[in-house]
Amino acid sequence: MNLKDLWLAIITDLEKDINRANVITWFRNTALLKVENGEMTVGLPLPMFLSWHAQNYADVTLKIAQKHQADIKKIAYEVDITLNDKDPRVIDLLKHFPMKESRKLPNKAEVKLAGGVISKMFNPRYSLDNFTIAPENRLAHAAAQTVSKHPGENYNPLFIYGGVGLGKTHLLQSVGREILRNDPSKVVVYTTTESFTNELIEGIQARNMNRFRNKYRKIDTLIIDDIQFIANKDRTQEEFFHTFNTLYDAGKQILISSDRPPQELTLLNDRLTSRFESGMIVDVKMPDYETRLAILKNKCQITQVFISDQVLEFIAFNIDSSVRALIGVLNQVIAQYELEHVAPTVKSVSEIIKRTQKDIKMIGFIKDDKTPHQAVTIEQLTDFVTDYYTIPKSEVLGESRAREYLLPRQVIMYLAKSKLRISLAKIGQYLGNRNHTTVMNAISRMQTQLQSNRQLLCDVNAITREAGIH
Ligand code: ADP
Ligand code: MG
Repeated sequence: MNLKDLWLAIITDLEKDINRANVITWFRNTALLKVENGEMTVGLPLPMFLSWHAQNYADVTLKIAQKHQADIKKIAYEVDITLNDKDPRVIDLLKHFPMKESRKLPNKAEVKLAGGVISKMFNPRYSLDNFTIAPENRLAHAAAQTVSKHPGENYNPLFIYGGVGLGKTHLLQSVGREILRNDPSKVVVYTTTESFTNELIEGIQARNMNRFRNKYRKIDTLIIDDIQFIANKDRTQEEFFHTFNTLYDAGKQILISSDRPPQELTLLNDRLTSRFESGMIVDVKMPDYETRLAILKNKCQITQVFISDQVLEFIAFNIDSSVRALIGVLNQVIAQYELEHVAPTVKSVSEIIKRTQKDIKMIGFIKDDKTPHQAVTIEQLTDFVTDYYTIPKSEVLGESRAREYLLPRQVIMYLAKSKLRISLAKIGQYLGNRNHTTVMNAISRMQTQLQSNRQLLCDVNAITREAGIH
């Protein structure tokens, strides 16, 4: 086998173990450079790939290689930055492993189960194992776990409530999947209040309510997501009440989620409220900073991407509206990483946050970490700032009073003083020979603006992290 065929055979086997996205990310523009004296040498296009391959893929790559060529005993890596997709040594991975359209929301699809009852598909990404447990959701997770092991026994119904994007659907779906996994013959239905209502309306229109009722009564586990939408739907409430009772009396498990606790759902039927209250009621809350960071780290581990702690801390610190938003930002960061092959930085991530999280409340300064401040000179600081704003350094150092240079110059002044402790006179001298009062005024203006201008705070925050002077 020639080197290229052998490498393709190895990657093809690898792809069965590590998922396709990882293959594309980490093996694109790699090549088998040589096999000599029992040692295979793998070429990597970027230095940052080295430690990742050594830690994660070296053993498995070697093992697979040995299957194809038994005399291979060792694996070595070499960074060769000339490797790119036009290099004849490189395999066109995208051709061999076309990316599936996997980022679509799979939980839209439906399945028809025995008895004609319709359930939404379970999303295989949701499991109890990949749910990060924290004080804010510990009880909900524990209850979900118990129900998944003993459906219909202790916590019936299980009622999970909490704000948007805090993991309710994740938990409900995990339980459904787990119950099915333990007993595939069970009829487990996951549906939303909306679908339930739609089916009901169809039943009414077809004058076939019996069919509707019978269908729902054959279920072993009924999961209804977002029950709050049942408010003001009297007929749906009525019908749901009957379905609920039939299932409940037969010892079938019911799981419900809602954005608020049962007593705050304005239900027509008080008996329905008390039914909801008769089981286990648990809430999920927004996790604190530490938990958010743990969620991000878990997620990186699951998807096998490496993102620096600094970047993860920055995301965890700034995204405090919902876990969904948190993971959304991380997914964007990963997507950009996979696409551009450039490790995310605080700066690139803050761009993503600005672009995707329009309503973000406040970007504050992140907790100090233990890393010592880098020795940064005002020249280096200026490089970071001009890079950040993508403006020419010469303009900032010159006399220009144009608005687009004014702000970056003030940022440099402010950071040079507050972080690098450089004297006003020196700062002024460096920045176009300005006198020290000008510098002082600029700095105090910045201080005022930082109180109210969150964009500016975000920029300054990103720059200080980037420069290592936070
Ligand atoms: P809800 O139904 O409460 O609006 P979801 O269950 O859809 O929220 O959760 C939104 C996203 O956040 C999903 O991708 C989910 O996997 C993720 N998520 C929420 N909480 C956690 C957690 N504790 N650990 C891991 N992922 C979580
Ligand atoms: Mg949901």
